[in-house]
Amino acid sequence: MTDPSLLTFVVIFAGLFGLVIGSFLNVVVYRVPAGIPLTRESRCPQCGSPVKPWQNVPVVSWLMLRSRCATCSSRISARYPLVELATGLAFVVVVWLFAGTVELSPAQGSGEWWPRAAVTVAYLYLAAISIALTLIDLDTHRLPNAIVLPSYLVVGALFVLACLLGADWAALLRATIGGTILYAFYFLLRLIRPGGMGGGDVKLAGVVGICLAWLGWAQFIVGAFAAFLLGGVFGIALLLARRAGRRTAIPFGPWMLAGAWVGILAGDTIARLYFGLFFVA
Ligand SMILES: [Zn+2]
Repeated sequence: MTDPSLLTFVVIFAGLFGLVIGSFLNVVVYRVPAGIPLTRESRCPQCGSPVKPWQNVPVVSWLMLRSRCATCSSRISARYPLVELATGLAFVVVVWLFAGTVELSPAQGSGEWWPRAAVTVAYLYLAAISIALTLIDLDTHRLPNAIVLPSYLVVGALFVLACLLGADWAALLRATIGGTILYAFYFLLRLIRPGGMGGGDVKLAGVVGICLAWLGWAQFIVGAFAAFLLGGVFGIALLLARRAGRRTAIPFGPWMLAGAWVGILAGDTIARLYFGLFFVA
């Protein structure tokens, strides 16, 4: 998209759409691990009174209700509006980078509008599940199959669609190989040290590998490596702060996803700097 005013409009719309999706993610994070259907009407967890539509407006309702339930006045966690804001912000960043003129990778869709739109939606989806899975993993130390497994179909279908609309088929082949490699790598890690990784981590690694390798091998390598760097630094910090022992289980999903976003957003730049440092200078 080269028209700046159109891009501005699309980015603002993406932000508002992100707030609404964030509101839905709050429901997903609470209900999916508990096995409660997503379609059930929202109720106050304290008094059980139904949430009225005007009380369900992202961020605004929380502020208007002064963070309390309208019926029983019990506190509503600040996490709800924060998740909504984070999702809105993430959608703004993804659309601005992917739908605009920023060149993260040639596999964004070669400047064409339709393949670029399909690729953008794939990374919006990845952003949404990144937020939901990070919170669920922190809350419950699980990465539910109900979210991870359909993600193969969603991102797979969107990347195939992007190719049908004109994106490079080589990107799809690379994504398939990358997904297989990262899945196999985490599978081996789990085999070597069963306590370290969960089965959910292995399954999520395939999705992350697909999304990283679609953009390029630089993104794939940086994103895969950054997960262990971030997770390792955090683990050492916890040990030093004596907040964790050597055997404390630290959920790895959030680090895998944070690393993936480092790879997506900065993989190309980091790889250039790294190789520039060693081979050019
Ligand atoms: Zn209440």
